[in-house]
Amino acid sequence: MADHYEVLGVSREATPDEIKKAYRRLARELHPDVNPGADASERFKLVTHAYDVLSDAEQRRRYDMGGGDSPFGGGAQGFGGFSDIFETFFGGGGGQRAGRPRSRRERGQDALVRVTLDLKDVVFGVHREIDVDTAVLCETCEGSCCQPGTSPVTCDICHGSGQVQRTVRSLLGNVVTSQPCNVCQGYGTTIPYPCGTCQGQGRVRSRRTVSLDIPAGVETGLRLQLPGSGEVGPAGGPNGDLYLEVTVTAHDIFSRDGDDLLATLDVSMPDAILGTTTTIESLDGPVDLEIRAGVQAGDVLTIKGRGITPLRGTQRGDLKVGVHVVTPTRLDAKERALIEDFAKKTKAPAPHLAEFHQGLFAKLRDRFRNS
Ligand code: ZN
Ligand code: ZN
Repeated sequence: MADHYEVLGVSREATPDEIKKAYRRLARELHPDVNPGADASERFKLVTHAYDVLSDAEQRRRYDMGGGDSPFGGGAQGFGGFSDIFETFFGGGGGQRAGRPRSRRERGQDALVRVTLDLKDVVFGVHREIDVDTAVLCETCEGSCCQPGTSPVTCDICHGSGQVQRTVRSLLGNVVTSQPCNVCQGYGTTIPYPCGTCQGQGRVRSRRTVSLDIPAGVETGLRLQLPGSGEVGPAGGPNGDLYLEVTVTAHDIFSRDGDDLLATLDVSMPDAILGTTTTIESLDGPVDLEIRAGVQAGDVLTIKGRGITPLRGTQRGDLKVGVHVVTPTRLDAKERALIEDFAKKTKAPAPHLAEFHQGLFAKLRDRFRNS
């Protein structure tokens, strides 16, 4: 006769918990539903019986003392407990413990709302009132799902357990399987008079306005989470979360590069040569800008602190303005004569290859190409 401890693969000093774990592991491996072989079925019997004995403190004590225990001596007792043990470990249908009805009350789903911002909103952050369409608690029944003054009644079919049991005779004795009750959908109760307002759902759809401050620095695709502002659950279950998904529309003038803003500044050829001061309209309002004499096409003028405040930070990025020197395309005879005269006097070198220069415009071009 096999030793019960050996059968379970545990030591004689094993704790009840270790015994339980060993049994659970072996039962999963050897259970006839999983492992149909005759060998496995024999071992399963032994394992189950060993567990029967060793999981009971009194029986284990007697066994340890060499008392009159025989693995199959118990007859009906030896296998009578099998279904119960199996139920205890593996539960009824759907991983649910047999005999426990499920609750109507569940957590509500998360809700997603899309919000479109322009670049200025991103730079400064913005306050928005957003209409949200979600399930809210039914005020008539306050989530009970019943007409006021009535309540759920115990299901006649499953007597409140939410489960119906089916007994299957097998080689190993009776196997009881549980399935959710069809009549009450596993709730254990039925609602004879559903609330008319919510049709017995405990919640109704409603439009409400959520007002919130969207922080500076957000970008397209970012989701802001508002915990507990999503759908209320069935039968008044807790709310899911609300997510706001941000889309930032492209700006005509400015584009974003990390925390910086980029823009292009058209400068006439005489201004580029002689230098000038000008006022540009930034997202913060007018900013004075000095263009030094001899500025080159592709030079970048940096205006500190007029970029974007990062989402997690306070230090604003910069506004970077790339110089674009505008070459005149139409000259009258007098202008042409002046330029020709200028060319003669300056003795400018002929066009020639020069060191590769990756300016702001190359960067901007890449960005447009990738977007
Ligand atoms: Zn209701
Ligand atoms: Zn039922």
